[in-house]
Amino acid sequence: MTQRRTQRKTQRPRWSMFPLMHENVSRLLEVDGLHFTFHDLDDDVSCVQTYDTSIMGRFSCHNQKCRSNGWTSKKIAITVRMYEGERYNARVYYQRCKVCTLLSKPILDDSYADRVAYRLKKWRGVVMEPQKFSGESKGPHQKEFCEGCKAGHCSEGGRMDELVGNLSRLSMGGI
Ligand SMILES: [Zn+2]
Ligand SMILES: [Zn+2]
Repeated sequence: MTQRRTQRKTQRPRWSMFPLMHENVSRLLEVDGLHFTFHDLDDDVSCVQTYDTSIMGRFSCHNQKCRSNGWTSKKIAITVRMYEGERYNARVYYQRCKVCTLLSKPILDDSYADRVAYRLKKWRGVVMEPQKFSGESKGPHQKEFCEGCKAGHCSEGGRMDELVGNLSRLSMGGI
């Protein structure tokens, strides 16, 4: 995917990068002797590797008239990207409140650093046990509330399509 997707300044942001989490990522990379710097430019074009995955975190709704108490998500869409010169960044997609549909920026937990560092190590050829990071979410992924799905970068959204596709093939009696 080489199409450039940039956010217009007049729109509410639908994703963010979290450069302050770099320290945590660095610490995990150092264990395997890797040193990356955070690439501040949110650029889809010049990256040499890109990977869509998901992390965990929580959201609160900032609409004061909304009765939502916030929510947690085990499937926050994230795109990890690597650039030349040992640089990387990650774009984390927002979700919409299920009550009022207002966009919300997540508050991340340790799964961000774990997942980003794991991906960079994998790209650098570090041999690791396959890890299962996120817990099982209850029920199907709700694409209409996930900005990762809308931007075409949600691993979970894709998986659901596959599952539904397999199920419908099964129900048609053919394999
Ligand atoms: Zn709300
Ligand atoms: Zn999604």
